[in-house]
Amino acid sequence: MPESRDPQQPGGEPSGQPAAPELPPVLPLELSPAELAAVLDDPATRDRVCLVDVRESWERDQALIEPSVHLPLGTLHALGPSVLPPETAGREVVFYCAHGVRSVSAMSIAHRFLAERGHGVHHLRGGQAAWEAWQLEREARALDQLEQLDQLERDERPPVRAVLFDWGGTITPWHTIDHRGQWTAFAEGHASVAGPRDGLVDELMRAEELVWKRSRAEHTSSRFDEVLAAADVEPDSEATRAGVAHYQKHWEPHTFTHPQVRELWTALRDNGIRVGVLSNTLWTRDYHRAIFARDGVLDLIDCDVYSSEIAWTKPHPEAFRAAADAIGVPAHECAYVGDRSFEDVYGPQQVGMRAIWVPHSQIPAAQQVSHDATPDAVADELTDIIAIVQRWNARG
Ligand SMILES: [Mg+2]
Repeated sequence: MPESRDPQQPGGEPSGQPAAPELPPVLPLELSPAELAAVLDDPATRDRVCLVDVRESWERDQALIEPSVHLPLGTLHALGPSVLPPETAGREVVFYCAHGVRSVSAMSIAHRFLAERGHGVHHLRGGQAAWEAWQLEREARALDQLEQLDQLERDERPPVRAVLFDWGGTITPWHTIDHRGQWTAFAEGHASVAGPRDGLVDELMRAEELVWKRSRAEHTSSRFDEVLAAADVEPDSEATRAGVAHYQKHWEPHTFTHPQVRELWTALRDNGIRVGVLSNTLWTRDYHRAIFARDGVLDLIDCDVYSSEIAWTKPHPEAFRAAADAIGVPAHECAYVGDRSFEDVYGPQQVGMRAIWVPHSQIPAAQQVSHDATPDAVADELTDIIAIVQRWNARG
């Protein structure tokens, strides 16, 4: 069964004692923003300097360098260096101001006083303005580096040679399914041959709920006939065949293939890319294929894997490996497309597949699982996948 209801579900050397950190033997009298940042960024040296801001309070309210203490130049000038804040005790003192003029005056006032107490005295060249400009440059450089790394990583990935698709909510538009309705339909069909059976609908609902709970918790698969057996329904009988016919009729409106699928799959195949399906489902291969045939897309599928035929369900890595093996393309050269971020993004990325997320489904909160995976691409329309894969492959 597909996954649009709950089921529409269908990974140096030993350092010994480190030497005590030392500041450079002599910090320059005038520090550039880069030199100051190097001192502040290093946990081994940052506590050995004290920045003293000699601007006015209103300037400090606008922007400041942290950590720093405040002593306006006017106060230092009027009262002398004995008013230096206690935080300066035992540390190299670096004065700074707006542009590096007042900080030079502060140095000249405090130099002798501090030198007698063994302090080094310095100032920040260009002041707060130079500091801010340098910070902006640093951020830009970091962004540049990130982009370069990103590009490098993309360039190193091989082209995509197969795209595998989820079924419910992906190539079949999401529908919220009436759980009880589908089993009521089954029970009606069953009763038309075997007569009514009290409690059958509840038993089937409980049995199905159990297998989907197990699928979500343990990522192990189940089959439709296991659900029937759990509800004491003979899998192969005339009554069951009548029940299945009613059940499938109930499902029919929710099984139609998205109208963009034929265009999408044709374009992918025209680009030399294989097309596959990997679905978490209770239903049989025959039932799924009959749906694809009805909708005129079966001929475009190179490979289809249904969890009802293997031991695992998505997002178990083995489910994705099984699909990669079946389509004959290594996992890292496959992309997977799906609507559930845990099963269909986190899942395939565990085995090195790229993941394209189709964020259109109203996944019930109880079925959502938190994770850190980020899709490699997001497709707002199914046909967007053509350009996504072409872009990846143009880089490769
Ligand atoms: Mg789905």
